[in-house]
Amino acid sequence: MSILQQFSLAGRTAIVTGGYRGLGLAFARGLAEAGADLVIGARNEEASREAATTLASETGRTVVGVALDVTSRDSNRAAVAAALDATGRLDIVVNNAGTCFHRPALDVPDDEWDAVFDTNVAGLWKLSQVAAQHFIGAGGGTIVNIGSMSADIVNRPQWQPAYNASKAAVHHLTRSLAAEWAPHNIRVNAVAPGYVKTEMAPVDDPKLKARWIDDAPMQRYALPEEIAPAVVFLASDASRFMTGSVVTIDGGYTLF
Ligand code: NDP
Repeated sequence: MSILQQFSLAGRTAIVTGGYRGLGLAFARGLAEAGADLVIGARNEEASREAATTLASETGRTVVGVALDVTSRDSNRAAVAAALDATGRLDIVVNNAGTCFHRPALDVPDDEWDAVFDTNVAGLWKLSQVAAQHFIGAGGGTIVNIGSMSADIVNRPQWQPAYNASKAAVHHLTRSLAAEWAPHNIRVNAVAPGYVKTEMAPVDDPKLKARWIDDAPMQRYALPEEIAPAVVFLASDASRFMTGSVVTIDGGYTLF
């Protein structure tokens, strides 16, 4: 296989959680451009369907938009079933859905803490487990988890204790599942982005510029499409000897 052929996802099917906007949409577009058929899902079913229609017409792939709440095991099962119904297979899961609240630790209410861990950790865990049950029967698969540089640093000036701890859990769950499922030909890797312009990250807020932008070696934020190629790489045969890796893509932010 040529180098570029190793990145091809032709004939494969992926689920992207939170795939209608932000990073998830860039990941979905990247995977489809690399040849994959897709299921994209989030709690906003209408937005997921609209994005699926757009991506299908842009890329010529089969793209299905579904209602998906990753915190619900039944909803995750339905997403896997949607992939099998639409394309007859499932090869790739991108656990992208996530949530974040900015608040000092002493003020964090239980419902915010729970929402962060239920989505970022338990949701990723449940879909991974449901998908792996399918992958084992099908001969293998790949999982790409969306972690964060916040797993390794404490962001400033905003405090976000639950989010930081949740992403540390994502990174180590990535390693744990990678070790356990390697014999089943399931690879599990993660990407850890720095600041990326999405609804979650108000990168243009002047109050955040000194810490978020000026402190960073490259002195800029990323656009979602700058993170997507790494997800395509980790989903593809080009990374076939990688498992349990966490790929940091932060413009050097965590170097200081
Ligand atoms: P957005 O807030 O723009 O998108 C989050 C997506 O997740 C939405 O589509 C949302 O849809 C979906 N989502 C949230 N909760 C659930 C749920 N329970 N079930 C299914 N889908 C859900 O954020 P980003 O694009 O910025 O973030 C994507 C990922 O990247 C997250 O994991 C985030 O932590 C991570 N990340 C982001 C960085 C950044 O700077 N932007 C940096 C590092 C990591 P809906 O609400 O309709 O369910």
